[in-house]
Formats: sequence, structure tokens, C-alpha cells
Amino acid sequence: MTDFYQADFFTRKQIDEVQLSALRGAIERAKRAPHYGRTLAEIAPGDIRSLSDIRKLPFTTKADLRDGMPYGFLAVPKSQVVRMHYSSGTTGVATAIYHTADDLRWWSECVARGLVGVGVTSEDVFQNMMGYGLFTGGLGLHYAAEMIGCMTIPAGSGNTQRQVHLMQQFETSVVHILPSYAMRVVHYCRQNGVDPRRDLNLSVAMLGAEPHTENMRRRIEEELGCKVYNCYGLSEMCGPGVAIECPEQSGLHLREDHYLAEIIDPATLEPVEPGGQGELVLTTLNRHANPLLRYRTRDITALIEEPCPCGREMRRISRIVGRTDDMFIVKGCNIYPIQVERVLMEIDEVGSNYMITLDTERDLDEMIVSVELSAEVFFDDVRTLEGIRRRIIREVRAETLVTPKVELLQPNSLPATEGKAIRLTDNRQITHEE
Ligand SMILES: [Zn+2]
Repeated sequence: MTDFYQADFFTRKQIDEVQLSALRGAIERAKRAPHYGRTLAEIAPGDIRSLSDIRKLPFTTKADLRDGMPYGFLAVPKSQVVRMHYSSGTTGVATAIYHTADDLRWWSECVARGLVGVGVTSEDVFQNMMGYGLFTGGLGLHYAAEMIGCMTIPAGSGNTQRQVHLMQQFETSVVHILPSYAMRVVHYCRQNGVDPRRDLNLSVAMLGAEPHTENMRRRIEEELGCKVYNCYGLSEMCGPGVAIECPEQSGLHLREDHYLAEIIDPATLEPVEPGGQGELVLTTLNRHANPLLRYRTRDITALIEEPCPCGREMRRISRIVGRTDDMFIVKGCNIYPIQVERVLMEIDEVGSNYMITLDTERDLDEMIVSVELSAEVFFDDVRTLEGIRRRIIREVRAETLVTPKVELLQPNSLPATEGKAIRLTDNRQITHEE
């Protein structure tokens, strides 16, 4: 194995040393970008004596990136840039991130370390079922799989029939897939007489790009007959591979030699207690083209400090709970869509898709949960359906403190998306902005 895999097994002391020296370099390089040239003018290398001195630096936000478009964060001459990716821009104007050849190399290494960590080898056939193009989920995993030596199938997103055909024909053993799309593949297989456990050759599915619950993981593992691992990233931090689970499936190892993580309270912007939940803030330590310091990811998680039974001392983040901008407020309660998913995925009769709609009824907020049931159940007698409906109401209320209206649907009635699933529609007359 090439040297870069060794970094996964740095001791805590080594990681801290590597981070501190890289941080000083990162600050100096960042100052070459117009934005940081202004905001870091007062910071000298001597100001950073320990890792906690990072708190002397200002945060960087999505709004800063937008204001800096197109080149306000570029820290190298444009001639050194070999690729750009564009963020999906779900909350407004999209932003660009630039990469030098060296940035792309270490990004691929981070992802490759994660794949090797869960047992992927050059013997594997890797089918990448994520969108190629400006979205980073496609190329991000693609080059890592090639680096390992997998036979890599750039299938892209959508066209489920062809996806399943490719998996059968080439005995695909590893896939990279959205959790919502994995459930769609399962559904397609069922409808078409394919038994994924018997007719496919999957051993590993990497899930990315959507927060999902532990129950969703277990469901996909059972249905596809393979191990499912969680992969975290965001385009502002290159893309997937910032943190990936190991075989323990209990938290995602951050590649801390490349990313420095903090967890803050998004309201006070102060660090949370060790192990506490809050907003993940990330600093790129080795990125040349587009360094980002203290970037507020808006993702809510916690840092796991303890060494992992797998032997890695790279800290872990826990499963992403949601994004600060996904959070919605109904009748004064703060709710993340994933809380509703957690409830739904515990109910066997619930199928693969759901949607939350917010509406206004007689001047009051209303939360409507639309749920697809599995085909076997939907055509059952009315009393069974009423029992399921009541159970969903009861359990969503226990989880979120809001009593929802529940609508039971037959399979495939909710709109299908080829990209990230849309879980929330807000039709309220007065929207409740944060
Ligand atoms: Zn581990």
C-alpha cells in the first residue's frame, strides 16, 4: 500500500503536531486570497501557538463565499487551477470551489483511505451511482476508486433499470449511492423479480450526500445484503471524504491531517462542551487553490474524542443530525426532517419514501407527513391502515412535540427525484425564517 494510507494510523500526538504546523501554513497561504488578505491582515504566524488559537480567526460563511464570487477566495494564480466544482445552491446563489492538481490528489487520497478502511480493494468492481458533473459526489469517489485499482463504472445517477443491469452484468461489489436512491433500487428490484441478496454481488454500499438515520442504514443493509457505510463531505470542503465510517459503524473518522474540526453553538458561536452537539466548523489545512478557514458547515453533529476500536486515533463525528438551514419551526418547536425519518423507519409497514409539508390552516401551522407504505400493506383492510396512521401520529408527536396530520400513500406516489430527495415543502403563508 502507498504511504498515504499510513496517515490514518497517526497517534493523537502526531495528528496534533501535523495540524498545528499545517494550520500556520494554511493561514499564510490563505492571505493570498483577496478575502483573507483583508480579514487576516492582523494575524501573524506567531499568533498561532496552539490549535486553540484558531479561535483568533474569524469564521467564514456561505454568505462570504457568495459575496466573494467568483475569485475572492482564490489563493493561487488562475493558471494553477485545474478544476472547479459548483455547489448545489439549495439556499440561494451557487458558489464555486477551485482545485490545483495537488488539491485533487490529496482529496482522492482522503476518499481512498476511507474506502480501503472498509475493505475495498483492487479486486472490487465499483459502481458510482452519484451525479457526475458540477456535483462532487461523482468525480470525488471516481478518482479514489481508480486510485485503489477498482474497476470503476461511472454509472451516474438515475436510470434504475440500467443501474441494476450493470450491477448484474459486471457483478458490482461496491456502490456509492444516495440513501433515498438505494431504497428506490430496492423497490425496482422487488417489482422486477430481482432478489438483491441472491442476484447481486454487493458487499459494500457507501451512502452519501443526504443525512439519514441508523434505521435507514439497517434497512438498506438487510435489503441489499451488504454492509452500508456513511460518507460525509460538502463541496466547500472538496466534497465526499471529509469523514467516512470504519467497520465499527460508530462514527465517521475525520481525515484530520487535512481538516481541522471545531464544534460551536450556532447561536452564541462559542465552542460547545467536549462531546456536545453543535455546528461543525472546518478548516482546510492543505488546500492551495481555495483555502477555507473556520468554515461554518451548518451541519449539526458532535465530535467523538475517544480512540476507536479499529485503531484509528483520528477523531470521529457522529451521524449528521441535520443542517441548521433544514431546521424548521412549527408551533414553536424546532424540528429536523430526520427526526420524522427516525420515527418512520422504525415502522415495518412504511415504504421507501416520505415527505413533510408545512401549511397554514386557520392561521395555525400544520405539519402534514405523507408516507408511502409497502405494497403488501397498502391494500390491506382499513382498520390496519388506521392503526398505522395512529401509530405514526403518536410517535411523531413524541419525537417532535407536534401532532402531525398523516397521509398514507401507495408506493411510488411521491415525486421521484434523481438527485437529493426533497423531504420538506413549506407552503405556509408566513414563513418562519431563523
Ligand atoms: Zn474506527
